[in-house]
Amino acid sequence: MAEMKKVLGTHWVGDGFHVRNLFPSNGIEAEINPFLMLDYAGPTKVEPTANPRGVGEHPHRGFETVTIAYQGAVEHRDSGGHSGTIRPGDVQWMTAASGVVHEEMHEREFARRGGTFEMVQLWVNLPRTQKMSTPRYQAILSEQIPVVQLGDGATARVIAGELNAVKGPAQTFTAVNVFDVRLKARSLAELSLPQGHNAAIVLLRGDIQVNTTQNIAGEAKLVLLSAAGEGVRLYAKQDSILLVLSGEPIHEPVASYGPFVMNTREEIRQAVSDYNAGKMGRLR
Ligand code: MN
Repeated sequence: MAEMKKVLGTHWVGDGFHVRNLFPSNGIEAEINPFLMLDYAGPTKVEPTANPRGVGEHPHRGFETVTIAYQGAVEHRDSGGHSGTIRPGDVQWMTAASGVVHEEMHEREFARRGGTFEMVQLWVNLPRTQKMSTPRYQAILSEQIPVVQLGDGATARVIAGELNAVKGPAQTFTAVNVFDVRLKARSLAELSLPQGHNAAIVLLRGDIQVNTTQNIAGEAKLVLLSAAGEGVRLYAKQDSILLVLSGEPIHEPVASYGPFVMNTREEIRQAVSDYNAGKMGRLR
């Protein structure tokens, strides 16, 4: 497969994001399916500069990239002609599907002033039937994301899916829940999650107890939950910020190579060749 050497870059790395990868680096593909990847960038101090850092032009095919902004700002531009700034509280849900070329850079004004940068990037797989569909771009602003009160000092922003009959704004191709959960110290939250969904708690920072048994504290920690069962109980020992993810697993083969996630090696070869031939477009 000599033609494969031309692809540069894998996922969200680049020079501007101090990234911790929570998966797939630890070999939990089956348990975290349909989620493919989660990087947690920051919190990092960005020094003022006239030359914004970030990730230059690179492709994606076969899945969705979800960028959740906590602090700082990212400017995005893609081959579909979409562009925009992702600010704290905002979420960008990009369906790469048949192919997108884009860049993700610190927003110019944020770079000029400097400040704290903190983002999550999550990759969500697409079923075979959607991998070659038309790319789509959902710019979801903070004010469009409903907040569910889970108890005293416990809230969840419903980015995708449904919680306590409140629906999130993100349109998804398979059943997926993405909740941005904030817990004050000594607060308790019980979240219902569908039977059969794979699920995980991603602690960005704090100190929590999951289901009265599992304690996690610090930054960038992951707890996987079984597909069986229908809920999770969270108790915060300190103020905590976490993501609750759940999704219906996609029972199809996964062939991945850097920024391409397909079902077969042949489809990967095709993706590399299509990208090199400019068929995923170019930034203008
Ligand atoms: Mn990207």
